[in-house]
Amino acid sequence: MKLATYLQAGRRRLGAVSGDDVIDLNRARAAQATAAGSPVGEAVADATVPADVLDFLRLGEPALEAAAAALAHAEELGLEESAHALLRAPLAAVKLLPPVPEPPKIVCVARNYGAHAKEAGLEVSEIPILFARFPATLVAAGDPVLRPLVSEQLDWEGELAVVIGKGGKRVAKEAAMDHVVGYSIFNDITVRDYQFRVTQYTEGKNFQASGPFGPYLVLKDEVPDPGALRITTQVGEEVMQDAETSDMIFDVPTIVSHISQFIQLEPGDVIPMGTPSGVGFKREPPRFLQPGETVKVEIPGLGVLENPVVEEVEA
Ligand code: MG
Repeated sequence: MKLATYLQAGRRRLGAVSGDDVIDLNRARAAQATAAGSPVGEAVADATVPADVLDFLRLGEPALEAAAAALAHAEELGLEESAHALLRAPLAAVKLLPPVPEPPKIVCVARNYGAHAKEAGLEVSEIPILFARFPATLVAAGDPVLRPLVSEQLDWEGELAVVIGKGGKRVAKEAAMDHVVGYSIFNDITVRDYQFRVTQYTEGKNFQASGPFGPYLVLKDEVPDPGALRITTQVGEEVMQDAETSDMIFDVPTIVSHISQFIQLEPGDVIPMGTPSGVGFKREPPRFLQPGETVKVEIPGLGVLENPVVEEVEA
């Protein structure tokens, strides 16, 4: 399943992608329960397949199973019938939000590809280097990324994102994948001069509207090996990054286990796994994102994360 969080009539909903449509999983569960004779289908749905992705992930495996059954029920209904019941809507007609709009934590991995560390002139570390991003920096697929007023050095970083399903502390590497619910795409957009003018990453990695994340949360059964994915980043038609996640220095289980040594993992936590080589600031000449351009990160099977770049205006 590919899970989408989206707005419909101003309400936040959780859906599954079905062809060019999105199926509202909470409403599908209610319809299924009602068809099975329940007089309280909506209450059943709210308790088993909540419309908020964090509530949904906190319920764990039973919610995933209930959602899959509800999706199968909805897909058997006629198109007109399901559209009328607000079960089904064209993806093009809804406003996508980030697949986890308000993650408890976003823990980013720095320097996780040897070629990127080398292009940046930095050492490869034996210990993963992590930094934090604020959930308030997130934007969805299609949303504008802001080129800030204070800098012209807006740079792309296409990345695989891991989403945590099951919480845990001090998780062994061997058990780490049990805590991953799925994957998405992240563009860890960075304001380079702000990143490097001090020793801490906080400012340069946390500009307003600098964290494209999406389009979907793809459950892990559709991604047999997160270490065998191709990732590309394009600015307009120009390919800037083209790499394999097999080149990551620290793989997904290592990073998940490592983070859990110091903080409790929670359902909905997001871990952008680091960017490969080909970022803008080390190109000859340096190349940064300009207003009017689009930046697109693609991982086959996970979708396309495309965002226009827009100049920030004085508030
Ligand atoms: Mg990064």
